[in-house]
Amino acid sequence: MSKVNDALKEIEGIVGQDFVTDKDFMKAAYSRNVDPAFPDRWADMIVRPESVEEVSEIVKIANKYKIKMVPRGGGADLVGGSVTQGGILIDLTRMNKILEINKNDYYIVVECGVTWGALISALHPTGYTTGVIGPGSGFSATIGGGLSNSTAGGGSTKYGLVPDICLGVEVVLPNPQGTIIRTGSAANKYAQPFCRYGVAPDFTGLFMGDVGTMGIKTKAFLRLHRDPPYKAARMYVLNKEDYNKVFELSHKIRFEIAEGLHDLSVLPRILVQMVASQSPVKEFKRLKIKGPLMNILLEATEKSILDTHLEKLEKIMESDAQPLSYKIFNPELDAAPEWGYNLKTTFQFFQASISPMPSYIAMATCHKIPISTMGEVYQKIIDFSVKYKDEYPPGSFPGIFASMLYFLPNGNYVVLGGIGGQNVDGKRESNMDIWHKKTRSQVRYGGAHYWLGESISQSIVEADAYTPEFLQFFKDMKKTVDPNYLLSPNKFHLYSYEYNTSQHIVKDD
Ligand SMILES: Cc1cc2nc3c(=O)[nH]c(=O)nc-3n(C[C@H](O)[C@H](O)[C@H](O)COP(=O)(O)OP(=O)(O)OC[C@H]3O[C@@H](n4cnc5c(N)ncnc54)[C@H](O)[C@@H]3O)c2cc1C
Repeated sequence: MSKVNDALKEIEGIVGQDFVTDKDFMKAAYSRNVDPAFPDRWADMIVRPESVEEVSEIVKIANKYKIKMVPRGGGADLVGGSVTQGGILIDLTRMNKILEINKNDYYIVVECGVTWGALISALHPTGYTTGVIGPGSGFSATIGGGLSNSTAGGGSTKYGLVPDICLGVEVVLPNPQGTIIRTGSAANKYAQPFCRYGVAPDFTGLFMGDVGTMGIKTKAFLRLHRDPPYKAARMYVLNKEDYNKVFELSHKIRFEIAEGLHDLSVLPRILVQMVASQSPVKEFKRLKIKGPLMNILLEATEKSILDTHLEKLEKIMESDAQPLSYKIFNPELDAAPEWGYNLKTTFQFFQASISPMPSYIAMATCHKIPISTMGEVYQKIIDFSVKYKDEYPPGSFPGIFASMLYFLPNGNYVVLGGIGGQNVDGKRESNMDIWHKKTRSQVRYGGAHYWLGESISQSIVEADAYTPEFLQFFKDMKKTVDPNYLLSPNKFHLYSYEYNTSQHIVKDD
């Protein structure tokens, strides 16, 4: 028997035969994320543990047979994160319990395989929120995926990325002992998981945004906030195509409205016009606008405070932008709505814009930039598209600056976007080339990416972004938790401790 078969038999003894498989139809079902540049990749086996002890035992067996492992939550990754060619794919979605909602001490405890949809549905009736309410993929994406991808979602303008609401984790280290540890205040075996700092160095951070390279997260301790009941949404179109103005206005809104600002996103003019052309309201079909759209959600604990926020917003926007009615998207909406929680809107708004052209899927290049550089980055993105337009997949839209911009705390914007690629074998190599090239160009103008799955983390290495000292530190940390380098080895080109990643550096012109 091969070592894979031996390992499969032993894992069967841990999870039971219903929860591990090497059947082809299951391997095929788990062979893709939403990413057109990657081929179908079949794991040697899929395993679905139910407890932290089972995860620990699986890790021990993987180490015994030196088989690589990749963790998977909802599999909604866009950058080749939760798929593996060969090895053990560990699907964590059976670990989906909400274990504690502690309203007294403002924290919750969940298993990492629970989806955002399930969590938010449970929390909403209580009047409490985790602040960030998960990504556009939140019907299937999990808390573990959010922590590992440093995901942003509804509420991130105010509350930050998913790791920013994390108070600690329970994690299985990928070492031969399958060590289980807890971080944050939970590292004190006598303490509740109520805060992140004050017991030990912040080892939680080691596992945040790690794309499943440093450990397998099994439980998360997250912040809880009161959900302010008064919310209002407003849209404004700028009087001209000026992204420096977007910076100035965002800065002012952040400064003057401060914690009353829940979400702020920006849609480029051409995309607003594309959406408007589909509008059921006739007057919007040929919308003439001159600048991008700013979509703003405000919130407050009192109606009078919300009214003050709205007055301030009106004043900030009056000389540079015009209000636009929400009826453009949906005639049933108010022109300027009071906002109510709605699971459908929360998780489905994104689907329409993630892949605006049928048969094309975004090879996502979402990255963060400081807001003051927005005008400059706008030009760099357009210049890149013009220079390499012949390498873009035919029919994609090279000239679009971003499919959306999303404001985060501390003065940075996520530039959401990518290259539309066809999900067919004949195009995968050229898709992958232009995807990496574009990502490298973003790394070199100082962009900080969002998710670090295979395509993005490898491109950062290829762009030669890390100093030798940093890279050595990274490898040493990885070796400490994963001495056999078995967990997610393709990410960052970290195939082994000895492996020379510098051979992947690409010198673009
Ligand atoms: C339609 C659509 C909309 C999206 N909207 C957004 C958005 O608004 N914001 C955003 O940031 N992203 C978005 N994404 C990207 C992605 O869905 C999110 O980043 C999401 O958080 C991934 O969660 P998941 O559970 O599906 O993770 P997976 O895809 O399963 O995994 C993501 C990464 O985390 C690792 N991982 C997963 N679980 C664990 C664990 N328990 N322990 C250790 N490592 C783990 C995996 O190995 C992988 O590298 C979107 C994707 C789609 C398809």
